[in-house]
Amino acid sequence: MNAEATEVEIERGARLPTWFGIGGGADLLARPSNAAELVRCLHIDPGLRVLGDGANLLVDDAGVGGLVVSLQTDGFQEIDWDRGAGRVYAGAGVSLPRLIGQSVQRGLGGIAGLAGIPATLGGAVVMNAGGTFGEIGDVVAVVHAVDRAGREHAIERARIDFGYRRSGLGHLLITGVQLALTAGDAEDLRGERQRAMDYKKGTQPLADKSAGCCFKNPTLTGDVDGLGDAGQRVSAGLVLDRAGCKGLCVGGATVSEAHANFIVTSRDARARDVIELMDVCTARVLDTFGVALEREVVVWGRDS
Ligand SMILES: Cc1cc2nc3c(=O)[nH]c(=O)nc-3n(C[C@H](O)[C@H](O)[C@H](O)COP(=O)(O)OP(=O)(O)OC[C@H]3O[C@@H](n4cnc5c(N)ncnc54)[C@H](O)[C@@H]3O)c2cc1C
Repeated sequence: MNAEATEVEIERGARLPTWFGIGGGADLLARPSNAAELVRCLHIDPGLRVLGDGANLLVDDAGVGGLVVSLQTDGFQEIDWDRGAGRVYAGAGVSLPRLIGQSVQRGLGGIAGLAGIPATLGGAVVMNAGGTFGEIGDVVAVVHAVDRAGREHAIERARIDFGYRRSGLGHLLITGVQLALTAGDAEDLRGERQRAMDYKKGTQPLADKSAGCCFKNPTLTGDVDGLGDAGQRVSAGLVLDRAGCKGLCVGGATVSEAHANFIVTSRDARARDVIELMDVCTARVLDTFGVALEREVVVWGRDS
């Protein structure tokens, strides 16, 4: 690959669209349209950040310095189906809901239960997005990525340490993913997708602006009355609810009454409001139960 042969356009003072609908922008934003342009971006800023669909992201009000790249460009939105082999290769910028829609149409199972999770494929894999009906890591066969030195890698599933909302791939820039799916009946898969959507609609404030769950489900380090036993992973939403966090607000950010692990924002909210409210919730849960919550939402700031 000759990275020097290609130039990439850089936008200054760019907006960073996120599902929270608030927060600052990027000093520099590039939209590389192929791997060579992505490597060129790495030459400009080896510490660059990748923006996915912004569905798990809070950008501080002052925005971020350095370069941000978006892979939601044609070059990273290719989808190549091999139904016979039950495989699909898709670029990192492909929308997960779009990929799910096509897999269901083609009668390929494995990701229908991830319906309702907004993400690019790259963002979903790096976070190992999932929930009650499975995780994306369950069907990943090969991850294609570029490291910070611009070297390309094809990483087989067996070498990826997927865990709960974790892939161990955060140091890489994911460029594409091959998924191993299983032949199924399109009608059954439509039903599976609908059940996943209905579950989310029934339990989560999907009409509000949020980044989904703010905190990871904690594993209890000791027995906690009313929550569970040591070693048990418990719902962060339940813990937050029991600690009385529902309805708490800071500025334009509120802990949802529908699901205590969702912080929802009004149009006049600031990113600072969300950060302060997350801190209030963390402190309250620690005080009430001695449980330390870990953020699931990624926060970008000038010094983080
Ligand atoms: C309404 C709603 C419901 C949600 N429900 C769920 C749910 O049920 N389960 C769940 O797991 N999540 C859920 N989420 C959170 C979110 O959908 C996931 O975390 C998703 O994986 C984020 O993907 P993204 O492309 O938007 O990544 P972003 O939010 O843009 O980025 C998240 C992180 O991934 C990194 N990243 C993104 N793309 C790449 C790449 N190509 N290479 C390397 N790093 C990359 C970013 O740098 C950042 O650190 C929900 C969010 C919302 C708003």
